[in-house]
Amino acid sequence: MKVMRWHAPRDMRLEEAPDPTPRPHEALIRIESVGVCGSDMHYFLEGGIGNSTLDRPTILGHEYAGRVVAVGEKADADLVGKRVAVEPGIPCMQCESCRTGHYNVCPDIFFPGGPGSDGALSEFYTVHADYCYPVPEDMPADVAAMVEPLAIAIHTVRLGQLAPGCTAAVFGLGPVGLLVSKVASLSGAFTIYGSDLHDYRVAAGADWGVDKAWNGKTDDVVARIMEETGGRGVDVAFDCSNGPDALSAAVTVARCAGRVTIVGISGQEVDHFPASQARRKELTLQWVRRLKDTYPAALEMITSGRIDVRPMLTHSFPLEKTMEAFDIVAGYKENVLKASIDQ
Ligand SMILES: [Zn+2]
Ligand SMILES: [Zn+2]
Repeated sequence: MKVMRWHAPRDMRLEEAPDPTPRPHEALIRIESVGVCGSDMHYFLEGGIGNSTLDRPTILGHEYAGRVVAVGEKADADLVGKRVAVEPGIPCMQCESCRTGHYNVCPDIFFPGGPGSDGALSEFYTVHADYCYPVPEDMPADVAAMVEPLAIAIHTVRLGQLAPGCTAAVFGLGPVGLLVSKVASLSGAFTIYGSDLHDYRVAAGADWGVDKAWNGKTDDVVARIMEETGGRGVDVAFDCSNGPDALSAAVTVARCAGRVTIVGISGQEVDHFPASQARRKELTLQWVRRLKDTYPAALEMITSGRIDVRPMLTHSFPLEKTMEAFDIVAGYKENVLKASIDQ
């Protein structure tokens, strides 16, 4: 089969690899769509995230969907022929984290497309069948792949503990930030402020539940939000950005006894924020690790029509043009929101 393998920053190559065969509990999936994620950009551009670096050629891709073509002898045979959205992280289900309901932070989790594990940018892929979620036959594969970032957004908003009528700020209006905004508005946030460093993403906010948004390059977003809220700040500030600066802004605009929820990946090993403010305001800082238990809700949100992810799918490329897709996402070119590799 064909695979797209990362070798070094900005160096990915189309190569041949042996076709995989499913182990007893696994499904063999013909990959139809892989979304390009902001976390992939850290590998593509820098070769790692914080102290987690790729030390050998690796296939990226963890937001994926496809059709099950075979299963191992202990997997559910009814899956064969179905299109599935796949929850990417496969936890051990034995350790303390797993046993106490925090399987997303399992130290032994298998996560595709990172150090030590190949991802789904390939023609075929095998995965534990229990993490395959059949989708309606009329759901396109690129939409099914969007279940993953939406599931992260739902997990993020749950950890943000949004209450009806509260106010929120979202820093970073990329796919995750826009999905967090939409889920927050569906969850009862009355006013959502947004910020990004690209005008087209600031403008996109209006389609995803953001009430007012500014460009952090040309506007003092913290001052704007404090003005808008009469100096109170917001109940929940979400950092959905990919850089080191938004966390400080989020801490600054969170109200006293408010909450800062961090799902963005700064890429730094150490993040800096105004600790004295956080202490004086008795803030709760909540980091988000991927997702847990939110695939069914994300799938339901899409199939019920509560959220239409299709306008986010701005770019599609075949597997051999993966580098082009990554280059567009890395450069914020052509008003890209989500690029996908479709085959
Ligand atoms: Zn992702
Ligand atoms: Zn575990």
